[in-house]
Amino acid sequence: MLKEPQVALAAVRLGQQRVKQAIRSAQQQARDGGIEPEHVVETVLAELPKSATSLRYVLNATGVLLHTNLGRAPLSQAAVRALVTAAGTTDVELDLNSGHRGSRGAGAMAALLEAVPPAQAAHVVNNGAAALALAATALAQGREIVVARGEMVEIGDGFRLPDLLVSTGARLHEVGTTNRVHLEDYRAALGPDTGFILKVHPSNFVISGFTSSVPAAELSELGAPLVVDIGSGLLGPHPVLTEEPDATTALDHGADLVTASGDKLLGGPQAGLLLGSEELVHRLRRHPLARALRVDKLTLAALEATVRGPVTPTEHSLRQGQAELLRRAERITGVLAGAGIAATSRATSAAVGGGGAPGVELPSAAVVLPQRFAARLRGGDPPVLARVERGHCVLDLYALAADDESDLIQAILAVED
Ligand SMILES: *Cc1c(COP(=O)(O)O)cnc(C)c1O
Repeated sequence: MLKEPQVALAAVRLGQQRVKQAIRSAQQQARDGGIEPEHVVETVLAELPKSATSLRYVLNATGVLLHTNLGRAPLSQAAVRALVTAAGTTDVELDLNSGHRGSRGAGAMAALLEAVPPAQAAHVVNNGAAALALAATALAQGREIVVARGEMVEIGDGFRLPDLLVSTGARLHEVGTTNRVHLEDYRAALGPDTGFILKVHPSNFVISGFTSSVPAAELSELGAPLVVDIGSGLLGPHPVLTEEPDATTALDHGADLVTASGDKLLGGPQAGLLLGSEELVHRLRRHPLARALRVDKLTLAALEATVRGPVTPTEHSLRQGQAELLRRAERITGVLAGAGIAATSRATSAAVGGGGAPGVELPSAAVVLPQRFAARLRGGDPPVLARVERGHCVLDLYALAADDESDLIQAILAVED
């Protein structure tokens, strides 16, 4: 049985053990009379999963560009190719010229430094939270982090930045009130125990009304090291998301260290970026904890390809016009009408999500179906995740690559009753 070509292919994909189990089970069914003996191969193939991972490819029709539950940014083809290349043995920490140990991920660091000219040095860890944890541990353990009360953020799934910072052995010195903080508040909090001043981007909420916060440029004048958590990972100013902080501007305004995520607006793999002064980055890199937060070769490869490579799928979505999205929605609606499915298209607004550009509405377009489609599409192949809005299943096209359109149509046709 294992020599049957398709079964042999499955064994390469899934491992012999798994395939043997399926063969035994199908043969037992044949003995019990449940299936005809000539259907054993067919049964084995039907029972085996398509892939060795339980993670599925999911079509994101939620209109949330960076959906944390869907793995945030989809990687560019360039990044996917880079990580596949790096998956074998690779020179991640070897200098092929000298034959000696090289600096780990030097290519990714060089790419970041080119993209963020005011940064003297860069270091990459597992994610944005790890970047903050490393900064707090190396620069403020047993000392104080001065932070505005209005910037004590919960980032999702119950995780709170203040708890993370305190868990490193640093103490928080909160300044200001929920809605307002002034330069004088920070100045009064500084003392011999200050590790650094932390400015956190309120990336998933907006406070409006009677508010005030202190810009990095003013905080940097106070004399204590200034760490800015920009959240989203934009390396430079963005033409559409003009309010979103970026690493270059934060450093130009005097930040000593910037922390950010790799899989938000940067559009790359999950990673935590640390950019800034040579001296601080060196201290982080040499801290024992750095080893525990180290990223693997796959992340480094994908990150370098993201920073140097072509426009990412995330950025591509941000550049698309609403008129084109509406045309796509109408085209899909037309195909569905041809198959007897009553769908409508309409303008809607999408969101950045995943901790970025809160309150910014991105002009988008959607295909609207009866609500019963939502659960069925989620259970389909590939699964499609939609929005349910006022009794309708809304398929927002903003985060969906144009290449995925035919898969979307097939998925809808497959679950139609
Ligand atoms: C997202 C975010 C984090 C956490 O980053 P992860 O990469 O999810 O660990 C921290 N701070 C801010 C401001 C964020 O937006």
